Amino acid sequence: VSASSRMLENYKAPYTATAIQHIQDEGAVFLGRTNMDEFAMGSSTETSFFGVTQNPFDAGRVAGGSSGGPAAALGKNLCVASIGSDTGGSIRQPAAFCNVVGFKPSYGAISRYGLIAMASSLDQIGPFTQSVSDARVLFNVMRGEDSMDMTSVPSKVWNMHSFSKIESLKDVVIGVPWSFVEHDGIDVDVLESFKDSISTLKNAGATIVDIELPLTPLSLAAYYILQPAEVSSNMGRYDGIKYGLHVEGVDGIDDYFQSRGEGLGKEVRRRILLGTYVLSSGYYDSYYGKACSVREAIKKELNQSFQKVTAIALPTTPSPAFKIGEKTSDPLSMYLEDIYTVPANIAGIPGISIPSGWVARDSVKLPIGLQLLGPQFGDDLLLDVGEFIERELSDKKELL
Ligand code: GLN
Repeated sequence: VSASSRMLENYKAPYTATAIQHIQDEGAVFLGRTNMDEFAMGSSTETSFFGVTQNPFDAGRVAGGSSGGPAAALGKNLCVASIGSDTGGSIRQPAAFCNVVGFKPSYGAISRYGLIAMASSLDQIGPFTQSVSDARVLFNVMRGEDSMDMTSVPSKVWNMHSFSKIESLKDVVIGVPWSFVEHDGIDVDVLESFKDSISTLKNAGATIVDIELPLTPLSLAAYYILQPAEVSSNMGRYDGIKYGLHVEGVDGIDDYFQSRGEGLGKEVRRRILLGTYVLSSGYYDSYYGKACSVREAIKKELNQSFQKVTAIALPTTPSPAFKIGEKTSDPLSMYLEDIYTVPANIAGIPGISIPSGWVARDSVKLPIGLQLLGPQFGDDLLLDVGEFIERELSDKKELL
C-alpha cells in the first residue's frame, strides 16, 4: 500500500488487488504488511523509507530485496507463507538469503491488478513458502485470467503448452550454463555449493548437460535500461497532486517539485533520471531500442534451450546475504546482485529459488539458494521438477 515510500506513507488503497482477493476468498488470515525497498527498487530493503529489514540468521546483514520483509518474516517463522513481487529477482533473491522457497511465475500468470506498477513488462507477483508444494498451493489460488489486467494469461494458453509429465528425477534434463555460472563476480563458496548441489542431483538420476547461453548474461545490462525506462513512465503519477505526499511550494509547479523531491528517495530518483535519459530523443534508439532488441534475442535463446532441457539451473545469487551498508554507496555492485535472476523476467519465464545449503561468514552460517528456470507457461512443470529437487536437497535446508 505504501510501497515503503514516504510518498505513499499515509495512502490507503481504495480497492483490493485481485491476487489478495483470491487468497482472502480461500479464508486465509493476513497478519500484516511487510517491508520492501522503496517502490521495489533495490536488493536489500535499504531504500525503504521505514528502515532496513534484518536477515533472520545475522542481524547485521540484509534480508535481500526488494521483497525482504516477506522473506524475513517467513524465514523467522512469523507466518506460514508470504507474498511479494519480482521484477528482476525480488522474490528469489530474498528467499535465498532467508532459507525459504521463492517462486516467480511466468509473466501474466497472476493478475497484477492492484499491484503498484514498477516496470510493467517485467513485474510479477509470487509466493514465499517453506516448501515447493506450499508454493504450488498459493500459486494455484492466485493465478488466473483477470478482466482488470489485460496482460493476465487466459486459461486456454496453459492448455496449449503440453509438457511431458515428470515421474522422477530420471525424467529430468537439467541444463547448466557453466560459462555464465562461473562469472567473475561469483563467490567461491557459492560456486562450490552450487557444484555440490548439481552433483547431488546427478547422483539422484537427473541428466545434467552443459548448455551455452552466450546472450543471457546481457540480461542485466538490458534490464538496467528497460527497467528505469518503464519506471520513469510509471512514476509520473506521483506528483503530489493526485494523491500521496503533498508539499506546498510557491506555486503549482513548485508543489510538484517539492512533493517529488521530499516524497521520493535517492534510488527512485536515480532510476527516474536514468529512464528519462534512455528514452529521450537522440538516445532512444541507441539505448532503449537496442535493449529491446537484446531482450528479444535473449528470449529466443532461452526458449530454444528448453527444447533440449527440462529446466535450467543457476545459483540464485552470486553471494550470500551481504552486510547492511556494504553496497549502499555503490549502486552498480548492488545491481550485480541480480545477475542470475533478471534473465527470467527479461524472458517472461518462471523461476524458483530452493534452499540449497549454507556458507560461513564471520563464524555465522548463511543460507543460499539454487535457482531453476522453466519454459514459458511451464510453471506446473517447474514446480514438479522443483519438488523432486527439493527432496534431494532437503538436508541442505537444515542448519546443522
Ligand atoms: N533488484 C532489482 C532492482 O533493483 C530487482 C527489483 C525487483 O525485482 N523488484 O530493480
